[in-house]
Amino acid sequence: MLDHVPEAFIEAHGLPRPQWKVIFAQMQKDWPRERKHDFWCAAQREWLERLRAAMAEPYVVVESENHFILTANRGEPKWMLDFAEELNALVGGMLDGALSNQSFGKFAVLVFHGEARYWQYIRYFAKDNRPRESAGICIFSGDTHIAMPGLANFRHVLIHEMVHARLSHLPLPHWVHEGIAQNIDRQLSARSRMLADRFARGQHYIWWKYQGIQLLWSGEIFQDRRTDRRLMGYELAEQIVNEMIKPDRVTFNAFLREAYKGDGGEAASRSYFGVGLGVLAQQVLGPGDWDPKPQEWDATKVEEAYAGKSR
Ligand SMILES: [Zn+2]
Repeated sequence: MLDHVPEAFIEAHGLPRPQWKVIFAQMQKDWPRERKHDFWCAAQREWLERLRAAMAEPYVVVESENHFILTANRGEPKWMLDFAEELNALVGGMLDGALSNQSFGKFAVLVFHGEARYWQYIRYFAKDNRPRESAGICIFSGDTHIAMPGLANFRHVLIHEMVHARLSHLPLPHWVHEGIAQNIDRQLSARSRMLADRFARGQHYIWWKYQGIQLLWSGEIFQDRRTDRRLMGYELAEQIVNEMIKPDRVTFNAFLREAYKGDGGEAASRSYFGVGLGVLAQQVLGPGDWDPKPQEWDATKVEEAYAGKSR
């Protein structure tokens, strides 16, 4: 279908890379509104078929109402599709009102056969072609999709990354993204729930007091190459989001629609919770000056934190 559009695909790092802007322009030019979904799905099929053909391992591509899955898993991949569909409905319900209104295409999940392929694939999207270590990634480049290195933790990774994907249209602070992804994973997966009560408040208090809470509000902590430091960010973000969701999800979803990365979500917190983020952080960490202070943020690092095409 895209045969007459040679610039629709390029090759980089040995794999085909769809140029979604070109494909989008083609769709806008030639296709009526009611056929856009079909066009985009056909372009996605072509992409996944090219990707499958470019790799030596025996991948298959399967498809359901809302998803594509590319996998080398030799077992019946239907359970993966079933799980993705079920999850899509659950996450959609939980984030009701804060969801993307994209009306075309399906959501692709790429499950690679090992770390080497995964890295080869994700390098294209990372700054300096040096991605951070990860169990999965949500890529926002043109056609939002998920990639993971294998089936280990498939459910857990899919839940977390699907939350990122469903909120990718909003200018959210990074900590809100990670906090809600962790929170929903905890709600939906029994294994994660068992680990839920391990928040070490005393340790966090000291750590953030000396490292500085601005690392959290600015999003800088999530760019850190050291996994143990990123983990502190994930844990605190989750606790603060838990505090926000406790009263009710409707207020939280309204907050999600307005939270803005430029102030860490401070203005939206005041509108919807009646208090600033510093007060919410006190409920989690104990007394201290935890207010966001955007004037103290390192502008270059903040820009880097939000320039990424993945999360
Ligand atoms: Zn994440």
